[in-house]
Amino acid sequence: MSKLLILYTGGTIGMAPTPAGLAPLPGYLPAQLQRLARDGVSWDVVEYPQLIDSSAITLADWQKLVADLAAAYDRYDGFVVIHGTDTMAYTASVLAFALENLAKPVIVTGSQLPLGHPRSDGWGNLADAIEAACQPDLHEVAIAFNRLLLRGCRARKVDAASFAGFDSPNAAPLARFGIQAAWDKAQWRRGSGAFRAVAPQPARIRSGLLLPGSMAAEFGQWLAADTPQAAILLSYGNGNAPADAALLDGVRQASARGCVVVNLTQCVHGAVEVGAYAASQPLAQAGAVAGADMTPEAANAKLLYLLAQGLDVAAVRAAVARDLRGELSVH
Ligand code: ASP
Repeated sequence: MSKLLILYTGGTIGMAPTPAGLAPLPGYLPAQLQRLARDGVSWDVVEYPQLIDSSAITLADWQKLVADLAAAYDRYDGFVVIHGTDTMAYTASVLAFALENLAKPVIVTGSQLPLGHPRSDGWGNLADAIEAACQPDLHEVAIAFNRLLLRGCRARKVDAASFAGFDSPNAAPLARFGIQAAWDKAQWRRGSGAFRAVAPQPARIRSGLLLPGSMAAEFGQWLAADTPQAAILLSYGNGNAPADAALLDGVRQASARGCVVVNLTQCVHGAVEVGAYAASQPLAQAGAVAGADMTPEAANAKLLYLLAQGLDVAAVRAAVARDLRGELSVH
């Protein structure tokens, strides 16, 4: 018998039409979950008092989620987090880092159409999430969506128009849900060590999407003038950027002041590979850390996790480049 805790935070899945558009409907989703009852599994449902459209998620919401999961950790076999799709990959990534030495499944899910819609994808997503949350060997935060189980810190929302809302472009799915569930256990991580929750703390993390033209210089000037604790720069291809003096000077000055500048690629597939092109070298020499094939969602979560621990800057930089939760490919 598996005993699950289902935390319902909001999202389209439990929404109903209102004059202003779709909005969360308190009480509706927990009642609907009864339709998925079956032998061998029971659950408690906690509906959050403020059901949100996930575009409004805040650090405080993540802190609450981490605290709720940590407080209930010993009492349940698995966890399902019901969440809006817009920031689901951000939340799944935050949980993947915050829940250290996780040895139980934590499955995040939601839907593109509300459960009340005749063609809702929510039923399948919920059923698959519950199935995955009953797997004792799954020691991961994962997203169940459109018949796939994806590593949380690898997933991205890739489609706002079809049921195939999520993908993990640089990592194979952890399972595929067909008539039978095909669990790819060879991909699953194993928990080891004592479970511990490291809740994210306020941190000044900023990001910039590099655009051809003056933006590179402006990003550099901004970094030099208003140095955050960490900056995620989305560069081109394999981590390439123009050898713009202001950009490189900004990265150099910010890095010298202890800012962790992370270089990620704008590409959906592939990785920052310093040295693949000469154009990737100047950023690295100026102090930017190559983020390999990490998603921006994972990089944000990883920085929050590392900065929350008061590590020195060298340790944060080293950990950013290292694989901690299966968030980046090691070659
Ligand atoms: N805007 C919604 C949300 O993220 C979208 C969804 O749930 O599909 O809460």
